[in-house]
Amino acid sequence: MSRFWSPIVARLTPYVPGEQPKISNLIKLNTNENPYPPSPRVLAALAEAGDEGLRLYPDPNAEALKSTIARYHGVRPEQVFVGNGSDEVLALAFMALLRHDAPLRFPDISYTFYPVYCGLYGIDHCIVPLNEAFEIDLADYAGTPGPVIFPNPNAPTGRLVSLAQIRALLQQLPDEVVVVDEAYVDFGGESAIALVADHPNLLVVQTLSKSRALAGLRVGFAIGHPELIEALERVKNSFNSYPLDRLAQAGAVASFEDEGYFQEMRAKVIASREWLIEDLTGLGFSVLPSAANFVFARHATRDAAGLAAALRERAIVVRHFRLPRIEQYLRISIGTDAQCDALVKALSEILG
Ligand code: PMP
Repeated sequence: MSRFWSPIVARLTPYVPGEQPKISNLIKLNTNENPYPPSPRVLAALAEAGDEGLRLYPDPNAEALKSTIARYHGVRPEQVFVGNGSDEVLALAFMALLRHDAPLRFPDISYTFYPVYCGLYGIDHCIVPLNEAFEIDLADYAGTPGPVIFPNPNAPTGRLVSLAQIRALLQQLPDEVVVVDEAYVDFGGESAIALVADHPNLLVVQTLSKSRALAGLRVGFAIGHPELIEALERVKNSFNSYPLDRLAQAGAVASFEDEGYFQEMRAKVIASREWLIEDLTGLGFSVLPSAANFVFARHATRDAAGLAAALRERAIVVRHFRLPRIEQYLRISIGTDAQCDALVKALSEILG
């Protein structure tokens, strides 16, 4: 704290990202990265874009990428916004669309960046508890005014809300912006992009970090009615008109052009998740149903913090949140089959 800080900075509790350990050879199952490399076509596009063109500014409007995403998702380019990871897209959405007279609502157990953005932009908010089964019940949001944001599938639980429920919420709150954060949707969810045409109040946010194995490239996007997209563009242009560099734009386009690789990689992650859930259940864990590239699991008798520490001693890193209601859970990202095998083996040893 310093007397030079503005009061809003003095009051901020910044987001703490998941650990990126410096030690190599760790089995890293803590930040939901894809265990597989990006498509070879992405790597070729990066090599090609990293030529003398780097001397020049990138396209500030990322037109090639927006058209590629628009074509891929069956919308118009003016319905697409792109940013430096979905974190930046979300930050701009909080600033441009989620600050209104009535408080913003989001689940008590969800992406821990949301309260941070509220602090940064001074957004009044109201936290809505998940139900007993750790599900988001959208009926809890329908009766009162105010914008809404939630991840679907939710993080860190992995649980999914149906499109029918989302449609009902959009109809019940036609004058409120609803943001669906679909960082993990490709691992088992149904995208709400299908609802955008009929609901001008819906913004869907996705990322290339997880299902496209491009966390290091930092590309996220939003799809919605052109009026919502224009609000995001206005804020972005008042802030940094070049959020996506040349490499990110070229690599992201190439990723959407390799559908075969994308489908193969996502199917592998889903298949590993299903057998890992079975094995963990066999070891005495209760595992929530997951539509994401991670599982959320609680052991019947053993303390989660202790289990995370014991795994760490065996060079396996998983995520443990010291937060109310979930402190006995571990969030485990889906690795390759060999990594998941090593996890199961280590847990069997630890559990005796
Ligand atoms: N939304 C959710 C729910 C997430 O878990 C994450 C990853 N931490 C993000 C958004 C941001 O991902 P990225 O900035 O890499 O696109």
